[in-house]
Amino acid sequence: MKPFSRVLIANRGEIALRIIRACRELGIETVAVYSEADREAPYLALADETVCIGPAPSLQSYLDIPKIIAAAEITDVEAVHPGYGFLSENAQFAEICQSCHIQFIGPTVENIRQLGDKAAARELAMAVGVPCVPGSKDIVPDEDEALRISRDIGYPVLIKAVAGGGGRGMRVARNDASLVTGFHQARAEAQAAFKNPDVYIEKYIDKPRHVEVQVLADSYGEVVHLGERDCSLQRRHQKLVEEAPSPAVDEDLRRRLGESAVTLSRGADYRGAGTVEFLLDQDDNFYFIEMNTRIQVEHPVTEMVTGIDLLKEQILVAAGAPMRFRQEDVRIRGSSIECRINAENAADGFKPSPGLITRYIPPGGYGVRVDSHVCAGYTIPSSYDSMIGKLIVHRDTREEAIVTMRRALDEFVIEGVHTTIPFQREIFRHHHFIQGNIDTGFLEEYFLDG
Ligand code: ADP
Repeated sequence: MKPFSRVLIANRGEIALRIIRACRELGIETVAVYSEADREAPYLALADETVCIGPAPSLQSYLDIPKIIAAAEITDVEAVHPGYGFLSENAQFAEICQSCHIQFIGPTVENIRQLGDKAAARELAMAVGVPCVPGSKDIVPDEDEALRISRDIGYPVLIKAVAGGGGRGMRVARNDASLVTGFHQARAEAQAAFKNPDVYIEKYIDKPRHVEVQVLADSYGEVVHLGERDCSLQRRHQKLVEEAPSPAVDEDLRRRLGESAVTLSRGADYRGAGTVEFLLDQDDNFYFIEMNTRIQVEHPVTEMVTGIDLLKEQILVAAGAPMRFRQEDVRIRGSSIECRINAENAADGFKPSPGLITRYIPPGGYGVRVDSHVCAGYTIPSSYDSMIGKLIVHRDTREEAIVTMRRALDEFVIEGVHTTIPFQREIFRHHHFIQGNIDTGFLEEYFLDG
């Protein structure tokens, strides 16, 4: 199967560079689009062609569908890779690509529509027998229904936006009064963030772990899972450190989680790379929460422990290639941990710290991988998220991976902007983290004031 000859990358930063690298190894030419704020980005030199698509604001560049389609047509690409964020889970964009005969490197339009609506995804999970958090069957239309459901499942409950993402549009309610205020606040926040006020209600699970399963599906009905990632280390529902495998998952649980992820993917007739997210409670019960229909920021830890280049496989299956391996070929080897290195000041409420990087010396050596698009002299624009890059380690055991991560964090020199590195250094010295004994409330409980 011949993959594409030319792909346009509708993204920026580290993931744009990651896609360029995968394409280069597959013998695919790349077209990188960029906004005026990214004009000087060094990774652009690695693309075969570049196209400026507008000024810094995302709405006028990386989220501007007509401009991206025009760039794709001018440069005569066969496919578009959307990366993560921006247009990666936008069904309309995928549909327009399709109607322009440009392959969207991702799932089908129907997959994005169904799974992007969290209430519809829950309904599908229930229909195929994948365990869900107890809660409303569908969208909760009004206050009375919200009260009825919450009393029925019992407080505390979580009000969640059907179109939610990035931890926004969520409210915990512990009684009738906070439910009523939370219901209206969540709807308003969801309307502002996602232009869709619809919410649903779930039981709020006490101190869960966030465990997600990577899946890959080709166009011929083959679906495999690549094991789990533990992303329990979160600040305000945003992941900061991820690892594979999860220290809380044994062989039997891994098999059951994997089977559930594959069952859901089959039920959705899923294509491409995706992630099925679960919460794991303290009694090892797991519950489906959502499926992300894109490559995830934290995909490298899965690559490290499986030896499978997810970006390449994602591109190949989008080009119509049959899956190159079977479930029984997937082996989890060693332990991999990733730190998201953000330009943020943890000492000041994680305030973004964009600006000029005056000195930059990344760590290296055995077991260390750095996925980053920056260098000394690079200015982190204030218009986008503040990710500098990802520091990933891979060793035979979790204990060794922690030692290597500590060493790599100590080696990492980034001057000119604040970074999350000092904060991450502390995490890797905390005895609960070292013992693998954490849940999604860990950071708030031990490091932050909430
Ligand atoms: P988003 O799409 O905004 O990332 P998710 O549904 O993936 O939202 O949830 C993000 C995080 O919120 C989870 O990793 C977990 O920490 C928390 N969370 C979500 N649902 C629940 C729940 N029912 N009980 C407790 N925590 C939850």
